[in-house]
Amino acid sequence: MERTLSIIKPDAVERNLSGAILKMIQDSGLKVVAMKMIQLSTAEAEGFYAVHKERPFFRSLVDFMTSGPVVVSILEGDDAIAKYRKLMGATNPANAEEGTIRKCYALDIEKNSVHGSDAPETAAVETGYFFSALEMVG
Ligand code: ADP
Ligand code: MG
Repeated sequence: MERTLSIIKPDAVERNLSGAILKMIQDSGLKVVAMKMIQLSTAEAEGFYAVHKERPFFRSLVDFMTSGPVVVSILEGDDAIAKYRKLMGATNPANAEEGTIRKCYALDIEKNSVHGSDAPETAAVETGYFFSALEMVG
């Protein structure tokens, strides 16, 4: 069993797509073991995306991620990290495969509706960034 962090980003929450995206997640067999809706502060978004702080899109990304509420969750399953990355689709929705969340819902390469951890190390850091052990079930 593996755990990964999911974020339904402000563009999707704002368009009332949280339920549709959670349905795609649950239909894939991934299990939600923690979940909450929060509004990120600038410092919280900067901390979460610190790995990208030298990238040209960093400031715009932080502005976007703080523009409205997000739904953060922890997903559990066999190979959850890779499984969720596959379900999300490519970062740029123009390159995302049919049937992926980003193909269905993303607006552009920035407003791409979902985040998913990319490796076991980042999944551990990211789940701990948003949730305490007390907030995880199972
Ligand atoms: P992913 O979310 O697929 O793991 P990255 O980790 O490379 O992608 O980037 C983090 C987030 O930064 C992306 O999901 C997207 O919101 C934004 N982003 C990535 N590349 C660009 C870009 N070239 N222009 C604008 N925003 C970008
Ligand atoms: Mg990433």
